[in-house]
Amino acid sequence: MKRAVILLGPPGAGKGTQAKKLEAKYGLPQISTGDILREEARKGSELGKKAQAIMDRGELVSDQIMMDIIRERVALPDCARGFILDGFPRTVRQAEMLDRMLNGSVRLQAIHLLLDEETLVRRLSGRRQCARCARLYNVYASPSPSDGRCQACGGTLVQRSDDREDVVRTRLEVHRRQTEPVIQYYQSRSHLKHVDGDGDADEIFRRIAAVVEAV
Ligand code: AMP
Repeated sequence: MKRAVILLGPPGAGKGTQAKKLEAKYGLPQISTGDILREEARKGSELGKKAQAIMDRGELVSDQIMMDIIRERVALPDCARGFILDGFPRTVRQAEMLDRMLNGSVRLQAIHLLLDEETLVRRLSGRRQCARCARLYNVYASPSPSDGRCQACGGTLVQRSDDREDVVRTRLEVHRRQTEPVIQYYQSRSHLKHVDGDGDADEIFRRIAAVVEAV
């Protein structure tokens, strides 16, 4: 049976990093709705322009638009064995629409990454990304990219426009209000596991892999 791993947790919990590791280990594609929206914004499409304004405020794009994006993405051939959802669903309505769309054809496993708020703010406001190869850095981590250049390709390191501290606070508030109920949604359907999201990325991945392989 097809399987989907759903990574839940506040912005900054490490969903993207862990989704990439899951993709590498299990060969299931990472579907990051944030990356899809940022790519649309970069291309300058109508959807991208609309989404960029919403993302810059730290708010959520409409459930219907997100569902259309997901429906199209999971129909691509690389999702034949399953997929990893990173940043979706973010509202209970999205979770319900996903259930309706999949209609029991995919075994879902939700993993909730837990982290305290001060660590999240530090991770997000310190996050920098290479504009060329998309590698992630953090100014608070070591080795820190002090010269503003990517150590892998020499590209310029930039801050995501929604990683400024004021927008980060809004994103965390939106998460509390709109996305935490999604955690309850999966909890009550008993396919949810909580994982400590603090520590080194490889160590966190070992915890996640243990959960994935227990199924
Ligand atoms: P992320 O990269 O997952 O932090 O997402 C960045 C931004 O994209 C979010 O703050 C939202 O504005 C938007 N976004 C991403 N995924 C969703 C979603 N499932 N529902 C609504 N908005 C989303």
